[in-house]
Amino acid sequence: MRHSRRSFLASAPFGLPALSAAIQSQSSPSRRPKLKITDIRTAQIRGHGYQLHVRVYTDQGLIGQGEATDSILGGVPIVQSFRRPLIGQDPLNIEAIWERLRTIGIFAGAQSGQYVTALTAVEIALWDLAGKALGVPVYQLLGGKVRDRVRIYCDSANHHPDDPLAKQKLHEIEAMGFTALKIDIDEAADPSRFDRVNWTASNGEIDRMVKEVAFVRETVSKKVDLAVDMHGRYDGATGKRVAIELEPFKLLWLEEPVPAENIDVMRDIRQSTKTPICAGENLFLRHGFRELLEKRAVDIIMPDLQKCGGLLEGRKIADMAHTYYTPFAPHCVVSPLGVMASCHVCAAVPNFLVLEWHWISRLQLWKDFVKEGEIIEKGFVTVPDRPGFGVEMNEEAARKAQVPNTPWFQEGV
Ligand code: MG
Repeated sequence: MRHSRRSFLASAPFGLPALSAAIQSQSSPSRRPKLKITDIRTAQIRGHGYQLHVRVYTDQGLIGQGEATDSILGGVPIVQSFRRPLIGQDPLNIEAIWERLRTIGIFAGAQSGQYVTALTAVEIALWDLAGKALGVPVYQLLGGKVRDRVRIYCDSANHHPDDPLAKQKLHEIEAMGFTALKIDIDEAADPSRFDRVNWTASNGEIDRMVKEVAFVRETVSKKVDLAVDMHGRYDGATGKRVAIELEPFKLLWLEEPVPAENIDVMRDIRQSTKTPICAGENLFLRHGFRELLEKRAVDIIMPDLQKCGGLLEGRKIADMAHTYYTPFAPHCVVSPLGVMASCHVCAAVPNFLVLEWHWISRLQLWKDFVKEGEIIEKGFVTVPDRPGFGVEMNEEAARKAQVPNTPWFQEGV
């Protein structure tokens, strides 16, 4: 029996995939064999909320990893629906893959929400894969870095003046090196609320909000910036009152005093106050940010790079904002994998301001989640020069947060 070149290579001691992988890692990019996607797999984690991790596998052994959050509940079947259009594709054509997955879903919800977030997880994994395949860090593929270190702010729940530990915890956060903090002042259980459904804040509620902001402002030193989140719960009248009452505290921003759906009301609040207004964590794609920017409804935008459409989409949104001289401060609630993915974008974007960090209450899981250990040093992340994102999951640690009875990167799932 005659052996063809292909069957010889496939039966060689290391097999064709291993040989291809060796060529991939040792040759110049222009001489490498084309990669092909062979599988997409998922794992579900409860870190800060629910996260879906996605891995894209290739015929040459290279694997890319991505992570999505928030609007990804129910996202597993959507990722599974991407298998058919993805398998066999060259994973380096990220824009083409992204556009195809988006446009085939226009009747399946590809304008926002779960569909876009599932697409985001895959897109992020493709960037990690591309970096590994080409031997470069992802920031290099996004235009190169304009900064070596990415400034991080700590989201903290230590803003209650009656909490005996709050001051100590705020001092600890400052001692960790953070130069910015964020607190949440919306409170469903506020005893001054007169109605369980309507979110017009009473005088008592507004006084409570002002006291909490004053407490944090007086506890940490003036050089630490303070952002305040209202989670888009309140109405326009309340948003205006709170923004004006908080003017003396010179906030870094007041976040989503009203829901994101009516841009005109957000603009009304912005025009009524000196307090900078920030919004965007629940908007999707460039299209979601266009009106926000065109109507000058915010001072700062905060897309969530783990749900808004992906890393390149995030870069495009940041670039749109840059034409309005608007800073980019991404929302971020994910594991060190997702934070590092976001950092590669933040390192490449000129108008980047600060990136969120939300795992202070899960510090041990945070520190163990990737093999590289703690990635935040004195309130900054130094973007690694390793290929891809430069961090790899520590599976033993990550599985401690696995959603019970869910698959863990199983074939075909
Ligand atoms: Mg928020």
